Amino acid sequence: MAKVIFIVMDGLGDRPVREFGEKTPLEKANTPNFDRFAANGVCGLMYTLGRGRTPGSDIAHLAIFGYDPAKYYTGRGPIEVRGLGIPLLTGDVALRGNFGTVDRCGIIIDRRAGRVRDVSEFASALDGTIIDGVTFVVKPGTAHRAGVVMRGPGLSARISDADPHVGGVAVRPPEPLDASAEARHTAKALSEFLERAHSVLSGLPINQNREQQGLPPANYLLVRGAGYYSNVPSIYERCGLRAACIAGGGLYKGIGAYLGMDLIVVPGATALPDTDVLAKFRAAVLALETHDFVFVHVKAADSLGEDGNFQGKSDFIERVDEAASVLAGLDDVLILVTGDHSTPCVLRKHSSDPVPVLVHGPGVRVDAVTSFGERACALGGLGHFSGLELMPQVLNLLGTSHLEGA
Ligand code: ZN
Repeated sequence: MAKVIFIVMDGLGDRPVREFGEKTPLEKANTPNFDRFAANGVCGLMYTLGRGRTPGSDIAHLAIFGYDPAKYYTGRGPIEVRGLGIPLLTGDVALRGNFGTVDRCGIIIDRRAGRVRDVSEFASALDGTIIDGVTFVVKPGTAHRAGVVMRGPGLSARISDADPHVGGVAVRPPEPLDASAEARHTAKALSEFLERAHSVLSGLPINQNREQQGLPPANYLLVRGAGYYSNVPSIYERCGLRAACIAGGGLYKGIGAYLGMDLIVVPGATALPDTDVLAKFRAAVLALETHDFVFVHVKAADSLGEDGNFQGKSDFIERVDEAASVLAGLDDVLILVTGDHSTPCVLRKHSSDPVPVLVHGPGVRVDAVTSFGERACALGGLGHFSGLELMPQVLNLLGTSHLEGA
């Protein structure tokens, strides 16, 4: 069976840019490797969530890996928390958060506690706290970030964010979002935990040291994105593919972990425009020795689109293409290149414009498309399809799709 390298350039799709003579950043970029894959492959356009729907990155990725977001997306918390290596059990409620700083009146002075670099000591002081039969698992994330899991009977994710998302205002206890006993119990337990956490954190010697040094103490946990976890079958369980994930950004590692992929750490994978794309692609080729399906995520096309930096986005796409030269000559490998959504520079945000898709490798019906771009792919042999229809087409090319009927 062929193996798969599945490349997602975040926010790849775009709209015509006047300064580029009405070409998109992808159309403007010089991409000889992707063009060659397109010329010898099959292309199409994908509406990740369906026409007219604008996806967030988390939901978009679930869809393109074949997981219906209506069933498998319950909030960002469980995805981020899995990315931190925290196992989840059915019935858990997971949240993501920041260690921040509040003053004596509970006003948020700094949402990131001076961008504190390492929160392990703060997290371990709270980890294992039990309130009202709920155990709180607290683990450090990168820099000021943390993951929180509430574990116990009768929990609900129908609670509001305990994070006002801005500084200079009072902290906000979580509220139940419906009248159920579960939502009220969860909001109450979390509220009590956050108060207790504040008092525990305030008393830590490490925070007293920070204050003596004039640094803001990490004395409050701001949590958001509650999601209820119930068992998510892995890609291996659903498709029989041993899957790996190579990503720099925490959310994307989280998506990989959430779907049961092995996380491969690549030094230099930063999720920024300076990321070492070549190292990521080399790691992907190496991973094919132990895995059937390797997801490689590159982030910066999206961030540059949100900055309105069309030149930077086009240049970054060229860098990704250059690195893709190490993928040439992999005869038994399906190479798939796409985006999770469009992030048009002119809008500086996600849009519902469809994204180009190219598939190169054994079994594809080569079409007439000779370059990789939004308009070229619109004429490709895959046609126009939705995100949930992508993985079934990959499985078909691998020869493992199930026969329906007799
Ligand atoms: Zn995205």
